[in-house]
Amino acid sequence: VLLLGVSFFTYSQNSEIKSSVKNVEQKVDSVLSMMTLEEKVGQMIQYNGSWDLTGPASGGDNKQKEERLKKGLVGSMLNVLSVEAVEKAQRLNMENSRLKIPLMFGYDVIHGYKTIFPVPLGETASWDLEAMEESARIAALESVAEGVNWTFSPMIDISRDARWGRIMEGSGEDPYLTSKVAVAKVNGYQGNDLSDPKTIAATAKHFAGYGLAEGGKDYNAVNIGQNELHNVVLPPFQAAAEAGVATFMNAFNTIDNIPATGSESLQRETLKKDWNWNGFIVSDWGSITEMIPHGFARDKVHAAEIAVKAGSDMDMEGGAYEAGLEKLVEEGQVDEKLIDDAVRRILRVKFKMGLFDDPYRYSNSKLKNQVPYDEHRQKAREIARKSIVLLKNENDILPVANSVKKIAVIGPLADDKDTPIGNWRAQGEKNSAVSVLEGLKNAVGASTEITYAKGVTLGQGERSFLFPLDINETDRSGIPDAVEKASDAEMVIMVLGEDAFQSGEGRSQANIGLAGLQMELLKEVHKVNQNIALVLINGRPLEITWAAENLPAIVEAWQLGTESGNAIADVLLGKYNPSAKLPVSFPRAVGQEPLYYNHKNTGRPYSPEHVTFSHYTDIENGPLYPFGFGLSYTTFEYAKPELSASEFNANGSVTLRVAVTNTGDVAGKEIVQFYLRDMVASAARPVKELKGFELLEIKPGETKSAEFTIDRETLKFYTAEGKWETEEGEFELMVGPNSEDLQRINLKYSK
Ligand code: BGC
Repeated sequence: VLLLGVSFFTYSQNSEIKSSVKNVEQKVDSVLSMMTLEEKVGQMIQYNGSWDLTGPASGGDNKQKEERLKKGLVGSMLNVLSVEAVEKAQRLNMENSRLKIPLMFGYDVIHGYKTIFPVPLGETASWDLEAMEESARIAALESVAEGVNWTFSPMIDISRDARWGRIMEGSGEDPYLTSKVAVAKVNGYQGNDLSDPKTIAATAKHFAGYGLAEGGKDYNAVNIGQNELHNVVLPPFQAAAEAGVATFMNAFNTIDNIPATGSESLQRETLKKDWNWNGFIVSDWGSITEMIPHGFARDKVHAAEIAVKAGSDMDMEGGAYEAGLEKLVEEGQVDEKLIDDAVRRILRVKFKMGLFDDPYRYSNSKLKNQVPYDEHRQKAREIARKSIVLLKNENDILPVANSVKKIAVIGPLADDKDTPIGNWRAQGEKNSAVSVLEGLKNAVGASTEITYAKGVTLGQGERSFLFPLDINETDRSGIPDAVEKASDAEMVIMVLGEDAFQSGEGRSQANIGLAGLQMELLKEVHKVNQNIALVLINGRPLEITWAAENLPAIVEAWQLGTESGNAIADVLLGKYNPSAKLPVSFPRAVGQEPLYYNHKNTGRPYSPEHVTFSHYTDIENGPLYPFGFGLSYTTFEYAKPELSASEFNANGSVTLRVAVTNTGDVAGKEIVQFYLRDMVASAARPVKELKGFELLEIKPGETKSAEFTIDRETLKFYTAEGKWETEEGEFELMVGPNSEDLQRINLKYSK
């Protein structure tokens, strides 16, 4: 033990050794060779640590957990939420255990730690990868300052169903965009070097298919085939693996009737073997034990056997590995080599994080007081306004003209300081956001009068992770005041949407309209004043067809975090020209869900362009607002796109170029999108798929070009033979401002 202590000390003295991968492997092996089976299994166990580790041990289960910590029989903890508690747990482990293997401390840092950024779905609407990387870097810094060194983020599940509550936590319906966000987030959290104490380890989750839960019901079964899985669900995960994400989290759902947590094909074959990824997989909370209710495991021991064989390396608070693994190895049911592989992966991450050199990392230093929270707020405001999507703006009622002297700000979310913080808010404090009302008051000049009426309430009772919200409001008493204020004002800014806890884990909904009495309020106000700009605060696409047909302006403002109201005011008053575009389709009716632009074609009804899709007969086809859609205060004109050649082969490439002119009066940013369709292939391909995008900042009267290079990599897909390959044939290239408004060019590829 003493010798080992000395050798770790020596490692930390030699930075050359520290950064050498080969030496990481040697160190991992040397530690592994000293471990007993019990200690190895201990590394594969993760405990929830939200009990008070700073005080005396609280008895029962927790006492037992402390005893295991002291013996070095715990690999990591989650939800240990203060520097003091982290240090206490780490000390219990480091000062008492035989081998002194440091713990990792995980937490759901999803869209900020203290400074809260837009919910991931909203942030993705910025399409600004640099900004998204930066918000992750900031979240990492604030996390390590509080002792957290591992986040269970990014969630990169493709989600096509607005009913699913966790749609707010991902990047929407597109595999290409989500892959780009995945890489940006991993880079932001982890930096260039995981041992840099300002970084935290990231987690790609939930592996896999979780976002395609049938009916949009959280945790529900996923029924998709291998081809769809590989073409749609897995690309973001592969991108994260290639970007070096330290850990993966598996998923609660079954996929084609096999629980993801028990899937050898996903975990051992695809992730660890085919993608050659060497990090470790943590289970989702209790997902190993949940194979029992799935009817896939008889008991905890059986569940442990299935999970370890499938390649799940760490058991998050499920008790299955603790109950079963040692016994399974001793009885010869599980080969110890599988345990070694899992432990090696866990130790590798810990070495790479530099935890053996400094188990207390940043939390132990005095840097805690040096986190520049004010600067972080400024960044939060910048990314928040980049995430706001202008959905409609008839007669240019936005930005609010200087001549408007009286504005009524109305709605249950208008002065709500909590909802913009959103779900999965880490240590974002209750009521800590700038409300829309506050943001507007901060921004308008003295000559503009602002009146306010709440109108109705949205949601009763406890607002938090575990408590369902009652949104069946009956109190109409505030409506007359709202109507009066609206009729007195030149313009109404109506702030409606969802409570923070209407979306998030376990928050699936069968209805996705404006809940409670919000529609009634909106219609009453509309009777007296039609000059309404509707600001939506929500975590999922909402059914807003009436608003789209009857109101002149709609602004999608998601749950934008700490600086929400200031960012919204920046857009409403024209201090920031909106540039965001939807990362997810907005339906006309909830019955259209799941709804996504990259769907397959059908043969009926017949269309000469062969672009049709299965439809309903009682509503207009297609989304209300398509994927990639968003307006600006200026106008952009696209020239005819040009292609450098109409054919190419395996060694070549072609360039697609399109010139875009700002034909309006103000500078603006346009997100130019490039889509592709493979006309005939060994497996049916989507009618279009995003393959590139570029953000162009263009001044009035100025023209800029976006350029996309197409080579065989661009055309690759998961073929009927189960390989990522390019097939010969005709392709249609499409370019434009959103997934529907596109110009087309044909391209031929031969091998
Ligand atoms: C969620 C995960 C999360 C974990 C830990 C689970 O219920 O599905 O995404 O990381 O809890 O909080």
